[in-house]
Amino acid sequence: MSPVRRCSRTACGRPAVATLTYVYADSTAVLGPLATYAEPHCYDLCAEHSERLTAPRGWEVVRLSDPSAPPRPSGDDLEALANAVREAARPHDRGGDGRNGGPQTADPMEVARRGHLRVLRSPDS
Ligand SMILES: [Zn+2]
Repeated sequence: MSPVRRCSRTACGRPAVATLTYVYADSTAVLGPLATYAEPHCYDLCAEHSERLTAPRGWEVVRLSDPSAPPRPSGDDLEALANAVREAARPHDRGGDGRNGGPQTADPMEVARRGHLRVLRSPDS
């Protein structure tokens, strides 16, 4: 375990306070609480870079950790998606930490997406 997570931006060594997760399938960048582990498509960001975050053209940024952000009609949906992405990306042998809050959706699209990500993250299965 590394004692301090650092911002992933070049030339920025400030402690990370948030994790940016790219959901390529939906062209969505989800900025949420600092992830409990590092993985390839997640980027830790410091407070300053979190605030400055801009998405590539055609991408949408969803901020899960910003209470001042205006409510979005699809917020619940996207939060569920972000949770699903992290759950799918989490190594199986580290599961059961009890942090996976929120109801799971029975949407078949969600299941398929999670299955897709699980396959990507678990080449040995
Ligand atoms: Zn930074």
